[in-house]
Amino acid sequence: MGFKLKNLRNQVIVVTGASSGIGRATAEMAAQRGARVVLSSRNEAELRRVVDGIRERGGVAVHYAADVADPDAMVQLARRAMAEFGAIDTWVNNAGVGLYGRTTEVPLADKRRMFDINFWGVVHGCRAAVPYLRERGGAIINIGSVTGDRAVPLLGIYSASKHAVRGYTDALRMELEEQGLPISVSLVKPSSTNTPFTEHARNYMDSEPEYGPPVYAPEAVARTILDCAERPTRDVTIGGGGKMMAMMGAVAPRLTDTLMERTMFEAQKKDAPPYHHEGALDGPQGSERRDGSTERFVMKRSAYTRAAMSDVGRLLPAIALGTATVIGINAVRRALEPDGIVPLDSVAPGVAGLRVMMVNVYAIRHETGWTLVDAGLYGSAGRIRRWAAGHFGNTPPDAIILTHAHFDHVGALDELVNEWNVPVYAHFEELPYLTGERPYPPPDPSVGGGLMARMSRLYPRRPIDLGPRVQELPPDFNVPTLPGWQWVHTPGHTAGHVSLFRPADQTLIAGDAFCTTRQESFLAVATQRPEMNGPPAYFTTDWDAARDSVRRLAGLSPQFIAPGHGHAVSGNEWRDSLRELADRFDEVARPREGRYVENPLRG
Ligand SMILES: [Zn+2]
Ligand SMILES: [Zn+2]
Repeated sequence: MGFKLKNLRNQVIVVTGASSGIGRATAEMAAQRGARVVLSSRNEAELRRVVDGIRERGGVAVHYAADVADPDAMVQLARRAMAEFGAIDTWVNNAGVGLYGRTTEVPLADKRRMFDINFWGVVHGCRAAVPYLRERGGAIINIGSVTGDRAVPLLGIYSASKHAVRGYTDALRMELEEQGLPISVSLVKPSSTNTPFTEHARNYMDSEPEYGPPVYAPEAVARTILDCAERPTRDVTIGGGGKMMAMMGAVAPRLTDTLMERTMFEAQKKDAPPYHHEGALDGPQGSERRDGSTERFVMKRSAYTRAAMSDVGRLLPAIALGTATVIGINAVRRALEPDGIVPLDSVAPGVAGLRVMMVNVYAIRHETGWTLVDAGLYGSAGRIRRWAAGHFGNTPPDAIILTHAHFDHVGALDELVNEWNVPVYAHFEELPYLTGERPYPPPDPSVGGGLMARMSRLYPRRPIDLGPRVQELPPDFNVPTLPGWQWVHTPGHTAGHVSLFRPADQTLIAGDAFCTTRQESFLAVATQRPEMNGPPAYFTTDWDAARDSVRRLAGLSPQFIAPGHGHAVSGNEWRDSLRELADRFDEVARPREGRYVENPLRG
């Protein structure tokens, strides 16, 4: 899309669904920034009120009441814009409604009606706009949803309609581009946005709907839409949470299913009976508002979206596309990398690592075989087996050693142990979480400030039950099956956390005692930005102990460092930054406040 779009000041913008929520926020913001705006929705009275408000603030706007489900009404809307302002520069297909309930229980007529609005409304809008845009150029902006990348239960038909919008938008873009038409076609994919969406939705659940976290303000979406009106943009997701969901859905579909089954049924329900069953599916509701009534914390901006829309973000589509263009980003990353990052697959003599999405597992070769350290995410057993086979043929390991039992370190354990029938070793204080005795204490999503932290309440923490197959690490600090290695008790992140150390060449497998990326931040994790950091904060339950553990490890002066999260690194520079982390731990790693900062859990 190598052409320029006009400045908003010189644009005529048509917005559907403009009497509430995202559409209203977009129309108001566009008018405030000097665009002439045509607002449309089915709610004439409310449209008039919004237009009056815009005019009172000095903006230029008109309205035209129309139902996007009616193709002729969309043609009339385009004519109205032309008659009033003599041009159409940007057309925003925003109108949409929600429909909550199990897909087996939602009536067919409602499903079809929803598609008439959410999907056919977009088609009708594009069909009306293209004839006017093809000569003078401009932008079509279709509002999709993160549920158009990854379906969400209880919003099944809605998710399907947004998948359809994505498919249609992608095809339209290619066709217009191939014809050389100067029309930018954008798909904007909001995450949960605090609009009256839940109140406008028809609801077949037994409670009032609530947004899955995190929830963004409508202005965050409006700002992104208007960015697309000025700069040709293929697609953009609002909110790292939505991006994360889409990425996880693509990379680990079964894990995502499981996570959603465990969380999204409850997360989408308020603790209240339904009070808007009908919603706005068949016709507009009375008075409208821009904002919704979520009980969740609302984020005004999305750091992720700003990064993705920035110049750097546009140059690094891999950030947005996640693993799809891993080759591209690896090349960029190598060029940007500071010294001392070692290839994960060959960390130190006889030590190989594998990154499973966001967590590392390690294999250590010894004289007669090999041993696995940690067991990655749920659903990754096949990947770990294939990788190990590449190194050791089809020989199973002699044992699996665990640094601790958090879900991202034991996910594939059950499957691997069944397959290989090998003993598992962990510190005795981790055994309750490996024998089904009790769950880990809850995470603290408030610490660390990043999206991975805020998401942490969704992470599983139920204990797994290995029964007698899990054994205590011996009290003499030797590591079973690994002569030359010692285990070091490094509590704090969890009470029974251990790291593994080989004094001969000062190789350290650190587990989560510290990280070489900022594990609380989605962007840092997605790009594996190298940076010495404390343990993943949301799960850390004793900060004094965590500091003492980092000091203990820094005192070993490791030359090769293999962490649970982030790059494997080596050399004096990294040894020194670990030293610095140890010295300044309370200042740089310990959160200012938080559940376990004031009330540590002691093992
Ligand atoms: Zn952990
Ligand atoms: Zn971890």
